Amino acid sequence: MTDLTRLTAVETREAITSGQASAVEVAQAHLDRIAAVDDRVHAFLHVDADGALAQAKRVDAGEITGPLAGVPLALKDVMTMEGIPTTCGSRILEGWRPPYDATVTARLKAAGVVILGKTNMDEFAMGSSTEHSAYGPTRNPWDLDRIPGGSGGGSSAALASYQAPLAIGTDTGGSIRQPASVTGTVGVKPTYGGVSRYGLVAFSSSLDQAGPCARTVLDAALLHEVIAGHDPRDSTSIDAPVPPVVDAARLRDVTGLRIGVVKELQGDGYEAGVTARFEEAVETLRGLGATVSEVSCPHFDYALPAYYLIAPSEASSNLARFDAVRYGLRVGDDGVASLEEVMAKTRAVGFGAEVKRRIILGTYALSSGYYDAYYGQAQKVRTLITRDFQAAWSQVDVLVAPTCPTVAFPLGAKLEDPLAMYKQDICSIPANLYGGPAASFPAGLSDGLPVGLQVMAPTLREDLLYQVGGALEAALPAQAPTLSWES
Ligand code: GLN
Repeated sequence: MTDLTRLTAVETREAITSGQASAVEVAQAHLDRIAAVDDRVHAFLHVDADGALAQAKRVDAGEITGPLAGVPLALKDVMTMEGIPTTCGSRILEGWRPPYDATVTARLKAAGVVILGKTNMDEFAMGSSTEHSAYGPTRNPWDLDRIPGGSGGGSSAALASYQAPLAIGTDTGGSIRQPASVTGTVGVKPTYGGVSRYGLVAFSSSLDQAGPCARTVLDAALLHEVIAGHDPRDSTSIDAPVPPVVDAARLRDVTGLRIGVVKELQGDGYEAGVTARFEEAVETLRGLGATVSEVSCPHFDYALPAYYLIAPSEASSNLARFDAVRYGLRVGDDGVASLEEVMAKTRAVGFGAEVKRRIILGTYALSSGYYDAYYGQAQKVRTLITRDFQAAWSQVDVLVAPTCPTVAFPLGAKLEDPLAMYKQDICSIPANLYGGPAASFPAGLSDGLPVGLQVMAPTLREDLLYQVGGALEAALPAQAPTLSWES
């Protein structure tokens, strides 16, 4: 019998509708797989076996149909799910069980998707390696001594180790795309406002965006269709039709598409293997009929410092809600201590070093006397970056760059050097500041480790990302991790 964990989402659904396997068998195969390998990968923080099997039974009973009914999924632990622990990789949320579903979670359930559990992440999605999780790091299935990317490393590692065919990520500065790049999977950050943020625990509200992660482009598009679309519960949600992502993923043709290579996102600081695979991917697309030119986006050079002022500023405000009263952890409440003391003790114990660094940075950038020099300046840079994108759209249909300047690095390599960690986001941050959609697609290997091609498109043109991704996937040889550590 075929190994049900090796199937794509599309194949899984076919197996269920043809009677080859029941949804319960599919769910059980994935739960068994998690039990067999996740002690080494550590992709999951919480596995909801009962919930997954109950949902699978509903699918088998014919209560829910649709293209993803019965397909298992790994949910990043930043998204609320009623009654299920949601920690955001932080001690401060330990014990909290949200009383409601995020809109994304509710839409997954309604589509019959089988949510296997919650995946590991850098604390409050701050990081690029998943090493900032309070619950220990996730490992890259391609090489267990390397990072799976971050902040959504649990989701990407679950895909690459066949613990789930689908996953949800969130991307504030690259946390969907960068893990996809270093695990050889597909990750798409939708247009800001394209997917509801209701129930997504806020890091930087003007940047946060949830999106689909999968092993194939079509699977990602099918998931995209399920989670996207207007939600009155999110005031920044866009009231417009979801772009035709599934049709675009199936097109597998880029004839006449104008592709712009971003001049500022290459050169020094990029590993030779990354540059080589990137250039080959661009040549492949040219060979498929696209036209390729170089486009300069001069303000991208300032994206990293602007992001590391805006995101911490918003985080310093958003994380004020963890006050020892409303959620999770409470430390030092002996009946005598003042509320302020309990709050201070809880935050001192509950937040990790990186989260504290961001809160301090953001509070400083917003403080009177420094506001104009830091936060205000960063907002002006954000406008200039948006204008770079708009100018590019008068010349090309999409922009491309490497997703990340390096392949997966060894665990611990950048942990003591925050700036080195931040630099991993150099290619992904511009799209967040602009708000347009961007994706990472597998583009081959460098010394046995995956490299990602990043594609960026105008707002609400997600279809162009899937068009490029689908064509590239069809043209390149399939790549899969050897998982030699299993034997
Ligand atoms: N690595 C970036 C950061 O640490 C981006 C994180 C994200 O997209 N959530 O802020």
